Amino acid sequence: MEIPFNKPAIAGNEYAYIADAIRRSHISGDGYYTKQCQSTLEQALGVHRALLTTSCTHALEMSALLLAIHEGDEVIVPSFTFVSTVNAFALRGARPVFIDIRPDTLNMDERLLEGLITSRTRAIVVVHYAGVACEMDAILGVARKHGIPVVEDNAHGLFGRCKGQMLGTFGCLATQSFHETKNIHCGEGGALLINDPSLVERAEILREKGTNRSAFFRGQVDKYTWVDVGSSYVISDCLAAFLYAQLEQRAQITAARGRIWRYYASTLNEWAMTNSIGLPHVPAHCEQPFHMFYLLMPSLDARQKLIEHLKARGILSVFHYVPLDSSPMGKKYGPFNCPQTQRVADTLLRLPFYNDLSEDAQAGIVAAIQEFSVDGSGGNTEDLARLALALAEPATVLALTNQER
Ligand SMILES: *Cc1c(COP(=O)(O)O)cnc(C)c1O
Repeated sequence: MEIPFNKPAIAGNEYAYIADAIRRSHISGDGYYTKQCQSTLEQALGVHRALLTTSCTHALEMSALLLAIHEGDEVIVPSFTFVSTVNAFALRGARPVFIDIRPDTLNMDERLLEGLITSRTRAIVVVHYAGVACEMDAILGVARKHGIPVVEDNAHGLFGRCKGQMLGTFGCLATQSFHETKNIHCGEGGALLINDPSLVERAEILREKGTNRSAFFRGQVDKYTWVDVGSSYVISDCLAAFLYAQLEQRAQITAARGRIWRYYASTLNEWAMTNSIGLPHVPAHCEQPFHMFYLLMPSLDARQKLIEHLKARGILSVFHYVPLDSSPMGKKYGPFNCPQTQRVADTLLRLPFYNDLSEDAQAGIVAAIQEFSVDGSGGNTEDLARLALALAEPATVLALTNQER
């Protein structure tokens, strides 16, 4: 039996709601189910306004437009993220300034933030990796001091919290993904969360092809017309119907994923310690929505060997994120210094994780992993020493890596 890395789950009412959306004769955007999803997100998260979009990528593009990002601006973004986080801003002509990550949570290292700010910095984009919050107090402190807006790419973190506050409510804008690889999905979809009320009206216009159509449907203007630039970021109500069925089950989905996460964490703990392998670190002030479970192997070689070992047993595990700062496109904006990102990109391995992963299947995955040990060739001492240092103090490793260059 093959165990995939991801399998899009069905929550139950998707078919019924899609049929209902069709019966309502409104399968374009902003129908009944789009409104249900938006008000669910607004209430559950406590955001001022939620707008469903065709993807998280498009919600990020809307963010760049709303912040009036243009040629010559700089945007600080982690190198360890999905390409859309930066592309949305690069599309508007901004120069990405890549920031390295903390070795524990794999989030933007807030201690490096202030050093990267210049007179051209126009946005700081944070990514809550694996749904574990960035150090928002420190990040917002620096942002406020310099008057720079913060955008949260919260694709992993829907319904996660930081010190009790919902992720997606810290930035002036936040984005969600409902791609089928995410906790809650509709195949392809996203949302823009707007916490700054002054951005709502323009967001509605950008999303509706640059027209004031939304205001027209609310009866606020008597005809609608072209008032600004824009595009078509509106999602079909059929997809919103699918998404609403998922959102209704959010508590059950999070609970099921929590069981999967804790099973990996408890059964792999001893094996990980024996083999000097890192497991996810979740600070006490972070509540995660259990987006993924990963291992931090002692070396690239050990990571590749474990991928092969599992593949030979029908289990698909994957690595994550090729560092953006050293990608062919990223290099054009550089050079940057992101040694932690490079190390994590070389050594991180994601284990199969989906809502209906059975305990039997998971027991099989864990047994297969426990058969694997990192031998001399897998984890050389230099790598191990670097990992130990990395877990202790990131600044030291930065210095070490700089010396090596
Ligand atoms: C999945 C993901 C995206 C892109 O989401 P789409 O909905 O596919 O556009 C952006 N950022 C991060 C961090 C992601 O994980």
